Amino acid sequence: MMKKQSKFIMEENLNRLAKWVRMIGCDVVVYKNISLQKMINIARKEKRVFVTRSKKNSNLKLNYKRWLIRSDNYLKQLEELKPILQPQQLFSRCIKCNRKLNDIHKSKTKNLVPDKVYRKYKEYKICRRCGKIFWKGTHYQKMLKKLKKNY
Ligand SMILES: [Zn+2]
Repeated sequence: MMKKQSKFIMEENLNRLAKWVRMIGCDVVVYKNISLQKMINIARKEKRVFVTRSKKNSNLKLNYKRWLIRSDNYLKQLEELKPILQPQQLFSRCIKCNRKLNDIHKSKTKNLVPDKVYRKYKEYKICRRCGKIFWKGTHYQKMLKKLKKNY
């Protein structure tokens, strides 16, 4: 039995699952147009679990950590990953590009977020890679609810 993990490399067709796993703070990389061999090399080198929907890719006679996902529904996929998933800090990582978020002072976000958001929320974080600003708004709350159903 594999122990709980917080670092993954996922195949491109698991991109939606990847976003959800980043929501709970885990480090998930997804590369486009990359060979299987390269993905496995990265998995080994960076100690990531290779997550795949392909039975063939999960059965190679090579030394790498792997996890097979069967469902094509992201919430079911999350369920399938759960036995090995070690949640980290919520709301700590960019769900789009995986980078750790930095705190940003509210005053600096004034022209970057909608007015009604600015009036309502105190805490903001920024992704220094894509520039996206995050706050714990309705979208976040909805995602959290769905996640909690799964935890
Ligand atoms: Zn980002």
